[in-house]
Amino acid sequence: MKFVDEFRDPEVIGRTAEEIRRLADPGRHYRLMEVCGGHTHAIYRFGLKDVLPANIELIHGPGCPVCVLPMGRIDDGLALARRPDVIFSAFGDMMRVPGAHGSPLEHKAKGLDVRIVYSPSDALKLARTNPDRHVVFFAIGFETTAPSTALTLLRARAEGLENFSVFCNHVTIIPAIRAILDSPDMRLDGFIGPGHVSTVIGCRPYEWIARDEGKPIVVTGFEPLDLLQGIVMLLRQLKEGRAEVENQYTRVVPWEGNRAALRAMAEVFQLRPYFEWRGLGFISQSALRIRDEFAQWDAERVFSVAGVRVTDPKAAQCGEVLKGVLKPVQCKLFGRECTPEHPVGALMVSSEGSCAAYFNYEHRKASASMTSLAAPV
Ligand code: SF4
Repeated sequence: MKFVDEFRDPEVIGRTAEEIRRLADPGRHYRLMEVCGGHTHAIYRFGLKDVLPANIELIHGPGCPVCVLPMGRIDDGLALARRPDVIFSAFGDMMRVPGAHGSPLEHKAKGLDVRIVYSPSDALKLARTNPDRHVVFFAIGFETTAPSTALTLLRARAEGLENFSVFCNHVTIIPAIRAILDSPDMRLDGFIGPGHVSTVIGCRPYEWIARDEGKPIVVTGFEPLDLLQGIVMLLRQLKEGRAEVENQYTRVVPWEGNRAALRAMAEVFQLRPYFEWRGLGFISQSALRIRDEFAQWDAERVFSVAGVRVTDPKAAQCGEVLKGVLKPVQCKLFGRECTPEHPVGALMVSSEGSCAAYFNYEHRKASASMTSLAAPV
């Protein structure tokens, strides 16, 4: 297949859904975790839940880097934005994420110099064109985006740029999956493996999940047919009593990953001893810091960063949703105090947040049909 519409062909989708129904044992309840927030959005956007049998439950995992960042890191970043000599730059996805004293967008509305960039190299361009200001790039993401930050730091060093630094919040996916599997209240039958991260890290880093934990994992793409095929491959493994790493997304994910990207990351970053994740707590060796050789471009060393710790609002259940223990609609604040217009947690505004997926594709649809039912004829 070459074209997107082939991955959305209703007839092929119908046949694949039929194959799922054939493979699923009606006497068994399957709990499959899609690790990546991009998958959660695709599942709800394309209504895939509706074609699955009721005994296949999809559990949403922690693969949204904006969502897993604790509020304290956002506040640390915004403290840099308040410096008069700083231009604070970040991806658009970060702009509405609430910190304890407001989001980056609210800081911008108050007159601070906060700018949206589409890549770290855009932030570098800002530094070149504003030599009298210091540009801080708020770097975020799993191994998917870390290589572009690494390449930007290599470029900053090559150019000897002195008014640019990175506030590094890159995290790594494997320790998060390990934390989920170690969680005593979590029972899973298999994983729909993350497609984007795997383009960089490949499939090998997941082998322990199959070997040591006995759970199948299928690295999967983001089109409707990709996801359904991923589920077929998981069900086949479960039916045959196998636990292996398989790659459904071969058109994009090489088994060994992207060596050039991994090399750039290794040159610029090293693992932090530990890092705090929202909902999962402190996880050892789960995030990247900038190596000493690049210290002059590390915002945490250029400026003094307080390292504040902020607890989420008491009623917010973002942590439980991130761990897959609760569905978004089970959070007491969902759709009432917490909406995309007035978010309490990052999960409600990130493009990969599961609360945003439920709200935009399920809640709005349900509200609209309630309104049309109630409308006078
Ligand atoms: S509804 Fe809001 S407060 Fe509740 S889990 Fe989602 S983002 Fe967090």
